[in-house]
Amino acid sequence: MSSYRIHGATGEWEVVIGLEVHAQVVSKSKLFSGAATEFGAEPNAQVSLVDAAMPGMLPVPNRECIRQAVRTGMAIDAQINKWSRFDRKNYFYADLPQGYQISQLFHPLVGEGRIEICLDEKDPEGSTKTIGIERIHVEQDAGKLMHDQHPTMSYVDLNRSGVALMEIVSRPDMRSPAEAGAYLRKLRTILRYVGSCDGNMEEGSMRADVNVSVRRPGEPFGTRTETKNVNSVRFVMQTIEHEANRQVDLVESGGKVVQETRLFDPDSGTTRSMRSKEDAHDYRYFPDPDLLPLVLDDAFLAECRASLPELPDAKRHRYETALGLSPYNANVLTAEADTARWFEALLTATAARQDKMEAEVARQAANWLISELFGALNKLGKDLETSPVSPEQGGELLALIGDGTISGSIAKQVLEKMLETGDGAAAIVEREGLKQTSDTGAIEAAVAKVLADNADKVEQYKGGKEALFGFFVGQTMKAMQGKANPQLVNELLKKALG
Ligand code: ADP
Ligand code: MG
Repeated sequence: MSSYRIHGATGEWEVVIGLEVHAQVVSKSKLFSGAATEFGAEPNAQVSLVDAAMPGMLPVPNRECIRQAVRTGMAIDAQINKWSRFDRKNYFYADLPQGYQISQLFHPLVGEGRIEICLDEKDPEGSTKTIGIERIHVEQDAGKLMHDQHPTMSYVDLNRSGVALMEIVSRPDMRSPAEAGAYLRKLRTILRYVGSCDGNMEEGSMRADVNVSVRRPGEPFGTRTETKNVNSVRFVMQTIEHEANRQVDLVESGGKVVQETRLFDPDSGTTRSMRSKEDAHDYRYFPDPDLLPLVLDDAFLAECRASLPELPDAKRHRYETALGLSPYNANVLTAEADTARWFEALLTATAARQDKMEAEVARQAANWLISELFGALNKLGKDLETSPVSPEQGGELLALIGDGTISGSIAKQVLEKMLETGDGAAAIVEREGLKQTSDTGAIEAAVAKVLADNADKVEQYKGGKEALFGFFVGQTMKAMQGKANPQLVNELLKKALG
């Protein structure tokens, strides 16, 4: 694999990237209060007295939020700390009524872990790289200020105030925008499999602080900048691209990178300075006196582990080894939990109707899903979630191909009709008379007609131009409206041509 380099005026530069991802925890209520967390509610409709920081209110940790963070830690093979503690991070801002955020600095819930990324979809096994995870800690989200609702005033919406976040901190192990993109996608996949975060970056439930520095290959790390709250995979990649080039230009023209916080501007694809280290906050972290340390017992941990689903890497591996899928297909089908679920339902539906070997059914189902259904849905602007064809109906269609009722090319027509009408495959085949025929007499008649109509080509064929055989097959199939059993067509043509 070739490494990513920036070609500066004075030579080559390597980019070093570490990501801090904030992922909103899936839970009915907030980290320390009973208020709801649903996205899109009326402003300030989901604010308890705790979230509004009324005097004397006390936080109570939400077991489900802790459970989700622990399950996430287990899914990335991380150390789970049975003893952790909440700290106060003090700062003033209008969207933070408490005047501090409850977070974890000194003793996070989750310690070191790892995520394996794949850099080439075509070669998912051969192109992996392991990215270290430093920690995952749990903290409260802040509220949201709205500056565009009134000409002279700003409003505040505290619905998000107190919602649980996981901050997932990577090691500075990534070396290109592509690696950072692959890391974010893989992390999102894992979170969605686990069900601990919906991974919806547009709605802000996953956002990244992007740390970037540059160095000469092999030299110690350079000074990094941190670009805050970038909310799409593409923007993260753009941030790195822009920031790395800016730093190279700066250093090569005699300047120095200063450690600072920057902001990404999606309109221009560039970053600009927000605050430098000199005016960085002193957060005066200290253990939150309202909360006891968090102590987890073995039964809780065992339940967390038992509740984990089969994870994407394990699933991909199983699809390859037990089902015999190609690495590419296995990768495509496991990249999203929903896709894998659909595929497995399709497998069940197909297998229930056929008594073929499991591997054969699986390969056929995978190929059909990836090369037929995905393409057809794409044309309609739909995806699996909005697919008019269910896995059950897909299984019915595959079984019809499998037992020779219809040919592969007729199956394409049937799928189109299924998508159009929502009807089942068998009903469509019956109604439209699309059944494959093994009627020898009818095929023989078609063969005879094709050969008679193309006497000149028959001559050439007999003179040695064997490639014409395919032409005869095509013509016979056409005469049979695609419904002849292809194997019989081959046999009868060979016989007729002597
Ligand atoms: P802080 O607590 O100031 O945010 P950390 O040491 O926790 O600093 O690092 C935060 C993030 O910055 C981590 O994701 C880490 O991987 C990344 N990081 C640290 N050093 C560098 C560097 N030299 N270049 C790029 N990223 C870095
Ligand atoms: Mg940081």
